[in-house]
Amino acid sequence: MNPKWNGQFSCFDLVARTDDSVSSIVRAGNVEIGSDDFVVMAGPCAVESERQLLQTAEAVVAAGARILRGGAYKPRSSPYAFQGLGVEGLKILRKAREETGLAIVTEVMSEEDVDVVAEYADLMQVGTRSMQNYALLERLGGCGRPVLLKRGMTATLEEFLFSAQVIAVNGNRDIVLCERGIRTFETATRNTLDIAAVPVLKTVSRLPVIVDPSHAAGVRCLVPVLARVAAVAGADGLLVEVHPSPDQAMSDGAQSLTLDGFRDMMDDLEPYLALRDLPRRPGPQLVAAGGTD
Ligand code: PEP
Ligand code: MN
Repeated sequence: MNPKWNGQFSCFDLVARTDDSVSSIVRAGNVEIGSDDFVVMAGPCAVESERQLLQTAEAVVAAGARILRGGAYKPRSSPYAFQGLGVEGLKILRKAREETGLAIVTEVMSEEDVDVVAEYADLMQVGTRSMQNYALLERLGGCGRPVLLKRGMTATLEEFLFSAQVIAVNGNRDIVLCERGIRTFETATRNTLDIAAVPVLKTVSRLPVIVDPSHAAGVRCLVPVLARVAAVAGADGLLVEVHPSPDQAMSDGAQSLTLDGFRDMMDDLEPYLALRDLPRRPGPQLVAAGGTD
């Protein structure tokens, strides 16, 4: 690891791993993230209707997901794209929790919506476009719910941890980090999954780290392999987009798994998760040299 990182953690000390700190376990509803379990969060990009969400929820819980995802407030690059159902979407998420027992993760885009989203969500998602919305991060410090913080698409890991520190310094240390791919010159994938972020973040911070292979890949055929890579790299879980009919999805259909595709992905993960039980070699050392191109 770049030696620049060695001992430079005072700027994000509340989320840094120190000799005497233990890894954080974050509780979202009845689910623990950061313990021995590999926690899979799955569901549609956006909540579109009760039927769509309940059908997805029943399929993902049967396949082993523990948390249901679904956006009610959608940050879309185009102002003409579907912006989400708002409170109606939150109510549908609540109904899905009642029917399946799944905990709920959903995005909050604005500090004005923090209270209403916290009424319905077990885990408050901060999207890539909001990672540096400091007014929102400050409000999440007092929201009384854990936060799923996604890495900004052009953010360094240091900036990512600064944003986590903003939430922590404002009173909330229940934070899960999510690597979801970054912008690079590559266009074959929607974003470039920075898999090294997983061991780096697990080494320098005490927070759980999950991977979103869907927004990294941008196409559904690459999602299972990126999920396997995340499992082997030591991630604490996944955030995956799943839709009953992806070709009709109102957002991110191309990268959404079908219900069968999700079940297959979960089955295929088993041997890779079993590898994690093997005796581990020591993790990355903070003092290793950086190197040049
Ligand atoms: C999402 O999870 O649907 C989403 C909008 O993700 P990101 O913020 O990573 O683009
Ligand atoms: Mn999406």
